[in-house]
Amino acid sequence: MASVLVTGGAGYLGSHTCVELLSAGHDVVVFDNLSNSCEEALNRVQELTHKSLTFVQGDIRYQDEIDQVFSDHHIDVVIHFAGLKAINESLETPLTYFDHNVVGGTQLLKSMEKAKVFTLIFSSSATIYEAIGDIPLHEDVPVLSKNNYSYTKLITEQMLQQIAKADSRWSIALLRYFNPVGAHKSGRIGEDPQGVPNNLMPYITQVAVGRRKKLSIYGHDYDTIDGTGVRDYIHVVDLANAHLCALNNRLGAKGCRAWNIGTGRGSSVLQVKNSFEEVTGIPIAFELSSRRAGDVATSCADNSRAVTELGWQPQYTLEDMLADSWNWQKQNPNGYN
Ligand code: NAD
Ligand code: UDP
Repeated sequence: MASVLVTGGAGYLGSHTCVELLSAGHDVVVFDNLSNSCEEALNRVQELTHKSLTFVQGDIRYQDEIDQVFSDHHIDVVIHFAGLKAINESLETPLTYFDHNVVGGTQLLKSMEKAKVFTLIFSSSATIYEAIGDIPLHEDVPVLSKNNYSYTKLITEQMLQQIAKADSRWSIALLRYFNPVGAHKSGRIGEDPQGVPNNLMPYITQVAVGRRKKLSIYGHDYDTIDGTGVRDYIHVVDLANAHLCALNNRLGAKGCRAWNIGTGRGSSVLQVKNSFEEVTGIPIAFELSSRRAGDVATSCADNSRAVTELGWQPQYTLEDMLADSWNWQKQNPNGYN
């Protein structure tokens, strides 16, 4: 069993990964500045697993704070979720994104090197793919930075590749997530966006719970099955388990390698909306509106590398994702508040 430092562990993906890590018997230290999360998520993680974790409130941009974590706790592996993730916001405040995602990442790496911890799992994103031409997207298709957010992911990936090349002690997993949705089966933890959701799934569940009037469907003239955008939605618990598989893989290997974390199945916006209505029985008011700047028609993973090399297999269907997202929203209409 390993002792795992989870940066951003109070957030949406981090909290679900903490549940799986604790359930598998690992020790967990969470480091989070709570800028987009709250401690209640971690209380619920402990309640669900009947295990305790250590929480340290701090910011990855301040090296003395991270250094302190490494001197206070024995750490074998770092899972690095902490960062900012809203594409639109990254266009308005690029410097803030470079600071948290790139400078913060660099500070973390320097602290890891000092503490002689060389195993890292990094939260990357499918937004780095050029997403024209080859679908499903294999790890080797061209990557491109399309906005300041994906630029921070791309540059961090490239930094990590160079670091692993220069120093053979490093073992790094780049997990390229497609579209994480869903929630823990219990409905006790889930996605809790602040303000108006940017993403499709929380927007739909907030319409269903009465917090938003109607869903705007961005674009209905794409070259897809029904004209609306197609994405590869992946259940957050499947995604959390991919981190456990990556952890096992990296503890026995060196170098830096990328894996796609998606199901390999695409669903259009209309298919998601219609399936949500079927699964929950709740009608979703909607309007067809114009395309959102920067969106691609289709994004879908070739996940064969993760299946073969990590021994990872996604378990959940789109219907499970919708039912679990709704179960969380229904039980927590205002999120953790
Ligand atoms: P989230 O906002 O719920 O979680 C991120 C956590 O990091 C939050 O708890 C926040 O408080 C913390 N944080 C932010 N800046 C910090 C800093 N400087 N120091 C310490 N903590 C800080 O986001 P999420 O959806 O859980 O995403 C986790 C990671 O996965 C992010 O790096 C994101 O870019 C990446 N990712 C997410 C998605 C997605 O759709 N959710 C898709 C691809 C990649
Ligand atoms: N989408 C939409 N209305 C919304 C939010 C998203 O029609 O309110 C569409 C979006 O254009 C894309 C899909 O839903 O085709 C998934 O978008 P999301 O923002 O969830 O993920 P990403 O764009 O990062 O793949």
